[in-house]
Amino acid sequence: TQRLTGKTALVTAAGQGIGRATALAMAAEGAKVLATDINVETLAALRADAAGDLEVTRLDVRDDAQVAEIVGEANPDILFNCAGFVHHGTILDATDEEWDFAFDLNVRSMFRTMRAALPGMLARGNGSIINMSSAASSIIGAPNRFVYGATKAAVIGMTKAVAKDYITQGVRCNAICPGTVESPSLHDRLRATGDYEAAMKAFVARQPMGRIGKAEEIAALAVYLGSDESAFTTGQAHIIDGGWAG
Ligand code: NAD
Repeated sequence: TQRLTGKTALVTAAGQGIGRATALAMAAEGAKVLATDINVETLAALRADAAGDLEVTRLDVRDDAQVAEIVGEANPDILFNCAGFVHHGTILDATDEEWDFAFDLNVRSMFRTMRAALPGMLARGNGSIINMSSAASSIIGAPNRFVYGATKAAVIGMTKAVAKDYITQGVRCNAICPGTVESPSLHDRLRATGDYEAAMKAFVARQPMGRIGKAEEIAALAVYLGSDESAFTTGQAHIIDGGWAG
């Protein structure tokens, strides 16, 4: 048997980046994976690349009714909430609309998916929820991450609260807090600065290891947290950042 044999997993934002790498890694470890995203093209490409039991479906984590239906029906043992958006800027750059959008996509989405997945997990007495936070959160401040850091700190608070409420009922809840990780949206953010090379250099410079992370390195932590190997771990913000916050 593999590390996730017999488990079902639902991954949000699985079309690219960390979510994609994790959906592939979980399927490779024997899980039955439902990979979701709003981008059906990247989902189709993921389906084509996947080995193992991996289905794809469109899911907008901002849509209450869709989340209730799809997550409820999938009834997963492992819920990986990976969807999130990076707002770039200081407090004085941020509008109310940007704040509301980021909190809806990064935080309230997890409120939606967790409340849809929890009844099934509690009925089985078994479940692992993994919420994507960031090192840039309540752990460390990062420049131009005012809205983003606030959302990712909220993710940690929510994670700890859910962990405590169900700690005796077999449901665990952990957060993952990466440093800068290679992903399609990272390249978009670097390009958006107007000087790709300089922006990449600055991101690499703040990583004491001298490199940014790989999506597969974050996926490995998510597989561990989803598996029974981590059965004694709940309510924690797991930092995986090449030493950035260390
Ligand atoms: P990414 O930003 O490149 O991709 C994000 C994915 O989310 C896309 O496939 C997009 O279609 C999907 N998406 C957007 N809106 C959605 C919605 N409403 N419903 C469902 N899916 C939606 O991926 P990434 O950089 O690997 O980031 C994934 C997560 O990891 C995010 O929560 C991000 O904040 C977090 N994170 C990333 C880094 C990094 O450096 N890449 C570091 C720390 C934390």
